[in-house]
Amino acid sequence: MKQVDFLVIGSGLAGLTFALKVAEAEPDKQVMVITKAVENEANSHYAQGGVAAVTNFRLDSFEKHIEDTLIAGSYLCDPQVVELVVKEGAQRVQDLIKLGVPFDKTQEGELDLGLEGGHSAPRILHFKDTTGAAILSVLLEKAKHQPNIEILTHLFALDLLVSGDHDKVCQGAYTLDTASKSLLTIQASVTVLATGGSCQVYSSTTNPLVATGDGVAMAYRAGADVRDMEFIQFHPTSLYNPGKSPAFLITEALRGAGAVLRNARYQKEFMYDYDERGPLAPRDVVARSIHHEMKKHGDDFVYIDARHLGDQKLKDHFPNIVRTCKQLGYDLTTDLLPVVPAAHYFCGGIHADTQGRTSIANLYACGECAHTGLHGANRLASNSLLEALVFGYRAAEDSLEQFDRITSQTGRLADVTQAASTPVEAQWVADQTGILKSIMGKYAGIVRNENELLQAQKQLLAISSKTEAVYVRSYPTQSLCELRNLLTVAQLIIRDALQRKESVGLHYME
Ligand SMILES: Cc1cc2nc3c(=O)[nH]c(=O)nc-3n(C[C@H](O)[C@H](O)[C@H](O)COP(=O)(O)OP(=O)(O)OC[C@H]3O[C@@H](n4cnc5c(N)ncnc54)[C@H](O)[C@@H]3O)c2cc1C
Repeated sequence: MKQVDFLVIGSGLAGLTFALKVAEAEPDKQVMVITKAVENEANSHYAQGGVAAVTNFRLDSFEKHIEDTLIAGSYLCDPQVVELVVKEGAQRVQDLIKLGVPFDKTQEGELDLGLEGGHSAPRILHFKDTTGAAILSVLLEKAKHQPNIEILTHLFALDLLVSGDHDKVCQGAYTLDTASKSLLTIQASVTVLATGGSCQVYSSTTNPLVATGDGVAMAYRAGADVRDMEFIQFHPTSLYNPGKSPAFLITEALRGAGAVLRNARYQKEFMYDYDERGPLAPRDVVARSIHHEMKKHGDDFVYIDARHLGDQKLKDHFPNIVRTCKQLGYDLTTDLLPVVPAAHYFCGGIHADTQGRTSIANLYACGECAHTGLHGANRLASNSLLEALVFGYRAAEDSLEQFDRITSQTGRLADVTQAASTPVEAQWVADQTGILKSIMGKYAGIVRNENELLQAQKQLLAISSKTEAVYVRSYPTQSLCELRNLLTVAQLIIRDALQRKESVGLHYME
């Protein structure tokens, strides 16, 4: 058993923002950040396009960013949350600049602001097309030099340590050291879920393998309020490369820079047939238009055409895409690139209030695993890094304020013991995970209907019952626990999709 003041589960942008803020404010308190893989294996590392924030008040305003966010979210966002994220987000990106994140600048030395779908002004701060990696490496470096932060890798959070029946209190987490295969109980005054996304519930996804919805599933098992799981953003353009997970993302900024979409059959530019905003329509509109266009012609993909942007512009602004595509045999200046929509972002999750507090005392949630009310029925592009920054910071502020009250509540706990010892067959877990993903892709993807959702519900219940039976008699492995978590996430998606009868935002019912 270990005891710390703050336990942060997840080393992405939300988790590190929280950890740095509390550690700097309280140098005598111990902050432990755990992550199930290596430190930077997180959705945050893969973010390409950038962070949306109002920094140029000649071209932009808070009001415009607020309105764009509300429109993208079909006005199902919480307006108070939208306002605070937009306004405080502008300060949080200034913090990043002060820390040394090298956002791209124009020749005149101003921030080079990108334009993305749904934004009425250029406001995306970026570093080439590897913005997330640039931010995360600066934060990780800082965290490693902060004496009271300990970062433990390959430590998988299994479940939250929660006491109380009605007034539940979180006191840490049970974890599995995946290298030594030993169990470890971590008792903490404050626990933060910053476990990122859940899109590995689909086989076609841009999310790395770690995005298995563990935080959402753990919180749900512990009795937390989980909301809006039906709103899943499918990124319109991931590279068509069957069998490869995660799918390589072709950033929206490429369309912002002028690339267009053509159908595979006739190479016809089709987006204006669906929406007057053409290739810069919001992501859900573009993803559904592609889905329609593929279905209409029986094609497996559509093309993105960036040939006219020119070699220099492509290399300057999209070096990562140019390089990766080249390795796969595509030259963006001469070739059309085959693309398909892929599951990309979860708007729903563990409900958290404006301070990041969940419905369980002393448990905070921030970043992609949280539902704060910012996104409503759809996320405006590049608002998620912003949300992770703002809520990581807010949760830290609140937990610092609450700390003395929290510590007086916590008592010593029993250590975790493992009764079951039967090893689980890895192949069985892989097979069930494959079946789960194919059910979700077939029945609960971009376009849904009630019959298919019910069908999915039935099939998921069957796999879930089998998995629970295996789980209780087996020694936990990471893949078995992830399967269990993905099943919980999948069932929550179906639950919420069935409850919302009308099509709105990312939830489209036939
Ligand atoms: C390809 C791609 C491109 C994107 N581009 C953009 C963009 O341009 N702009 C934008 O705003 N957003 C973008 N996003 C979304 C954005 O990256 C994420 O929403 C955001 O980074 C989430 O940050 P986070 O800190 O909440 O989670 P993450 O960065 O995903 O971090 C989660 C952490 O939790 C850990 N973890 C998970 N489960 C466990 C467990 N059981 N035990 C221990 N550790 C665990 C993971 O290992 C990881 O360290 C993109 C996403 C992807 C995948």
